[in-house]
Amino acid sequence: MGIKSKVLIIGGTGYIGKRLVKASLQQGHETYVLQRPEIGVDIEKIEMLFSFKMQGAHLVIGSFDDHRSLVEALKKVDVVICAISGVHIRSHQILLQLKLVDAIKEAGNIKRFLPSEFGTDPARMADAIEPGRVTFDDKMVVRKAIEDAGIPFTYVSANCFAGYMVGGLCQPGYILPSRESVTLFGDGNKQSIFVDEDDIAAYTIKTIDDPRTLNKTLYLRPPANILSQREVVELWENLIGKQLHKTSLSEQEFLNIMKGFS
Ligand code: NDP
Repeated sequence: MGIKSKVLIIGGTGYIGKRLVKASLQQGHETYVLQRPEIGVDIEKIEMLFSFKMQGAHLVIGSFDDHRSLVEALKKVDVVICAISGVHIRSHQILLQLKLVDAIKEAGNIKRFLPSEFGTDPARMADAIEPGRVTFDDKMVVRKAIEDAGIPFTYVSANCFAGYMVGGLCQPGYILPSRESVTLFGDGNKQSIFVDEDDIAAYTIKTIDDPRTLNKTLYLRPPANILSQREVVELWENLIGKQLHKTSLSEQEFLNIMKGFS
């Protein structure tokens, strides 16, 4: 094994970001986490950052509003992973990464950049519909900037976060399963790929020093995790020893619900 890259994680207190910090430390990388002054008195973020420090991470102060601070943070490391928010129903900051691309260009030392992706491959989502397609469109804008600048990259396509999708039996707006009923999309037989968030983080960190994934997309598709909604529901029914009452949602009804989230 060669020397492990030094890693800067941006968005380290986020949902996937905190797992990336943990995985980077566990896999023995010298790990830096951006500490943004904008978090102010967000005590939970500060506690989390200090817990990273206690586990061996270095905190490095920097802001997207301060180009020089980003450049200085980048100069400390070999690899940068950004996990900035990008969900239209929550917080969507994907295009802020264009500032990071500028800073990476100026720093000139970054061997690999992993932008905030971790979802469905945006290059395959040209036909995505609103609401929600903004995530894919913006991620493609960031990809173009990275590639135009000649920055070495890896894109991690992690498909569906299991925590978001499996617990709620794949129903938008649900995180926990009902013991009584479920609404199926159409016949419920379309398959999706569900990936555990800690596994996403572990494989993301594993890829950063792997020459096979340089300037490529890494697809996380565990064969056992490719399931239809019906199969997810059956797993839950087996666990609780009971059949759920099932109703079905048409395509148009589903689209109307999604509009409600925009
Ligand atoms: P979060 O919403 O948890 O936010 C991550 C971090 O973004 C925050 O902790 C914060 O970092 C940073 N951030 C938020 N707002 C700002 C801002 N205004 N300026 C600078 N930084 C900011 O993100 P997720 O973990 O949910 O999303 C990360 C990636 O995962 C996205 O690309 C998203 O599209 C993808 N995703 C994929 C899913 C899937 O099913 N495959 C589901 C959900 C997300 P800090 O305060 O630490 O600096």
